[in-house]
Amino acid sequence: MLEQIFLHQKQHSLRLRKESLAARVEFLTTLERSIENNTENIVAALKQDFKKPEAETLLTEIYPVLKEIQYVKKKLKRWARPEKVARSLMLATAKSYIYKEPRGVCLIIGPWNYPFQLMITPLISALAAGNCAILKPSEFTNHTSRLIAKIIHDCFSENHVTVIQGGAETTQELLKFPFDHIFFTGSTRVGKIVMEAASRHLSSVTLELGGKSPTIVDSSANIEIAAEKIAWAKFVNASQTCIAPDYILVEQQVYERFKMALIKKIKDFYGHSSLEQKNSPDYAQIISTQHTLRLKSLIEDAVKRNAEIGYGGDVDQEQRFVSPTLLEKVDLNSDVMKEEIFGPLLPLISFQNLNEAIHFINERPKPLALYMYSHSRLNIDEVLQSTSAGGVCINDSVIHFSHHGLPFGGVQESGLGSYHGVYGFKAFSHEKPVLIQSAWGKFMRLVYPPYTSFKIDIIRKLVRWKI
Ligand code: NAD
Repeated sequence: MLEQIFLHQKQHSLRLRKESLAARVEFLTTLERSIENNTENIVAALKQDFKKPEAETLLTEIYPVLKEIQYVKKKLKRWARPEKVARSLMLATAKSYIYKEPRGVCLIIGPWNYPFQLMITPLISALAAGNCAILKPSEFTNHTSRLIAKIIHDCFSENHVTVIQGGAETTQELLKFPFDHIFFTGSTRVGKIVMEAASRHLSSVTLELGGKSPTIVDSSANIEIAAEKIAWAKFVNASQTCIAPDYILVEQQVYERFKMALIKKIKDFYGHSSLEQKNSPDYAQIISTQHTLRLKSLIEDAVKRNAEIGYGGDVDQEQRFVSPTLLEKVDLNSDVMKEEIFGPLLPLISFQNLNEAIHFINERPKPLALYMYSHSRLNIDEVLQSTSAGGVCINDSVIHFSHHGLPFGGVQESGLGSYHGVYGFKAFSHEKPVLIQSAWGKFMRLVYPPYTSFKIDIIRKLVRWKI
């Protein structure tokens, strides 16, 4: 069955290459209307999957995709037209262009944490670039994955876009096919499996992976605002966010003030007691019991190694609840500092001078995001120049994700390639150089064999003058 779908899409992708841009815009409009009509169903599905608050579904799942469609539709004509390239002296007789051709049949594999948005946003880029696509949503968010399948079924023929549901084995089956592009969002561990599978067919890949995103708060920062922004970025979606602050490096002299401001903000947002937080309609559940237990064991391991729970620390396995938790004095060898946390636990680490913080970050794999709260231009420049990260926010967190003009992606262990806006269009396009020679091109024969001394003389001049 998978093979048949793949082969049908392959054939259809050849027809699709010749479709007009208006047809692509129409596909996007169909998708846009369907998402608008399904808004309440999307909110309900995410609520069923992990009690995701309505406001967060609207803000982080639906709004970004509708905004992306609107932006892409507006810009598509400009992005897709062949780009004229200036003539080079040596090839002065020819005109040159860069054509943006569709890659063909693309596989889009998604994670569970933003299960709607992270499946649909890459699809928008794939459609804009004129591709067919097979979507493989996460097996952990059954309600949302089923709804995605229904929306796609209503909007597209199976040989254009289709959804295959299933777990890791299904992905492994899909990865056997020679896709023209594989767009994967998920963990670094599975990203390596995907890249290895892609290498068998030399399929191109975009890997949107995870990692530990650090946040620096120095003494020049506005501490109350920093605490508020960090509290939101950390605990939205119950911190199951690839670019959530993973740990905070706080300058020692503002450490206590920052901690107290953060605790105040947590209480303002989600309630004063653990019970209030558990019952809060504004605080999501952990995706599964297995993930809840993983977070519980991260707390236990940290405490066993003498960490102190600065706030929270409550876990209710049955309700899949982990309270917003601050960890202090963590041993750097504890699991919470070795793996991506991906949940509402936040280690606070103090530093005395900025170089210490920079060294701390550079000793670890390059993160997907890096945040800094500071009003010192010198400190900001120092961090920007001395560290590497997929993306950076200064005096804010996570919101760089939502700017269409910025490429979103990781670097090395946190990812390969980028998307959003034109970068998504490029990820799903092959930039094909096209050179069109004119009749004057016959002068090229001056460098063809037989290589007479006259021709060698001309070639030597070319080399010397770098024409
Ligand atoms: P995951 O890697 O476990 O799963 C992602 C997808 O891969 C799922 O569809 C799953 O079915 C499939 N998969 C799982 N195991 C597989 C295997 N052995 N072989 C083939 N396919 C397999 O990730 P997840 O738990 O769904 O999501 C969390 C991770 O994703 C975190 O690391 C997070 O940082 C990352 N993430 C990154 C971004 C980003 O934009 N960079 C966004 C969201 C999540």
